[in-house]
Amino acid sequence: MSTVVAEQATPTPTNPPALREGAFGNATGLACRECGHQIALGPHYACPECFGPLEIAYDFPAITREQIEAGPANIWRYKALLPVPDDIEQSPNMEPGYTRLLRANNLGRELGIDNLWVKDDSTNPTNSFKDRVVACALSAATEFHSKVFACPSTGNLANAVAAAGARAGIKTVVFIPSNLEQAKQVNSAVYTDSLVAVNGNYDDVNRLASEIAGEEDGWAFVNVNVRPYYAEGSKTLGYEIAEQLGWRLPDQIVIPVASGSQLTKVHKAFQELIKLGLVEDKPYKVYGAQATGCSPVSAAFRDGHDVIRPVKPDTIAKSLAIGNPADGIYVLDICRETGGAVADISDDEVRDAIVLLARTEGIFTETAGGTTVGVLKKLVETGQLDTSLETVVINTGHGLKTLDAISDRVGAVATISPSYDAFVAANIV
Ligand SMILES: *Cc1c(COP(=O)(O)O)cnc(C)c1O
Ligand SMILES: [Zn+2]
Repeated sequence: MSTVVAEQATPTPTNPPALREGAFGNATGLACRECGHQIALGPHYACPECFGPLEIAYDFPAITREQIEAGPANIWRYKALLPVPDDIEQSPNMEPGYTRLLRANNLGRELGIDNLWVKDDSTNPTNSFKDRVVACALSAATEFHSKVFACPSTGNLANAVAAAGARAGIKTVVFIPSNLEQAKQVNSAVYTDSLVAVNGNYDDVNRLASEIAGEEDGWAFVNVNVRPYYAEGSKTLGYEIAEQLGWRLPDQIVIPVASGSQLTKVHKAFQELIKLGLVEDKPYKVYGAQATGCSPVSAAFRDGHDVIRPVKPDTIAKSLAIGNPADGIYVLDICRETGGAVADISDDEVRDAIVLLARTEGIFTETAGGTTVGVLKKLVETGQLDTSLETVVINTGHGLKTLDAISDRVGAVATISPSYDAFVAANIV
């Protein structure tokens, strides 16, 4: 992974201040995922040669388990593996990560899986895994002296950006589709006075953000122009799962797919741990989960296609509703190469899975987690998942954000007058 950065970044019109020594830790440059071309670290996301996506390249020193274990109980315990400075803990941040890996015996019994774990990322500071990626993007935005911290979002990202920006004292502007769940709107607006609702779907919002990023100086759009830094934050999910399993990789992992960034980065994390000798090399299968109403990657997997045909999303799993997923083709590659799969389920199955996870494990997930658990169930039913192998399913967000999805399914079993007789008459137990 050692790299030499020869090229200079394309100069930006405003001549930004020089980067601080060590501002990006062990990162050495930006490398194109398509053609391998390398440029210097900067607020860039597309390859100047072929427009392919840029990814962080590193030159890692030797890193031991003990060094990591001595770190804080948040994502910064892995700071040597991230594009962040060594003093990152000193900057005001949300300290996300190191969430629970829960053994899920009840859900496992229900689904017929012998050895099942839930990685519960709903307990992050703003209740979704997005706090991880935003923490890395914020560090980059700070090092680039950005004036505005912004994002186009399907909901959770806006929550995480607005909160992290508030804590860091940097102006935030967050853009969402106007039809977003009320809870996700309030969970952003409480942290920022600049929540912008756009009449359009996420892909429209994303296009608008790219346009603004091109026109305005000093804006860090976490998932657009600082996307390479943002994306690295998802690796910490992979590191944590391996560390919490006692420094080993699971046999199978099921991950929700919106843009596909999280899935590709969990795989990248596992590969890095193997290369660094922190876990034993072994095969593992990666599975992607989508809701049928927005399943362009699952459709391509099923039809054996190498390209993703964009769709117009129509699903209650709004946090996964990206019709034109930037990393979709890489998700296809990884799921095919590892022997996994990408599958999708209906909105009704998403609702069922939310209740199933709640009633078996006491975990209230949002529609994205319902999608992931429901796809896990489907993969068992279709024989695509080996029930004898150790399996991890990721819950990426909290159910309190998508109450509407199940509020007509669960509720009081009876409404009675406050008397013992009325209780007995209701025949509840
Ligand atoms: C954003 C999001 C995802 C998927 O993220 P990608 O990296 O874009 O695939 C999954 N779950 C939740 C709850 C999210 O908010
Ligand atoms: Zn390229």
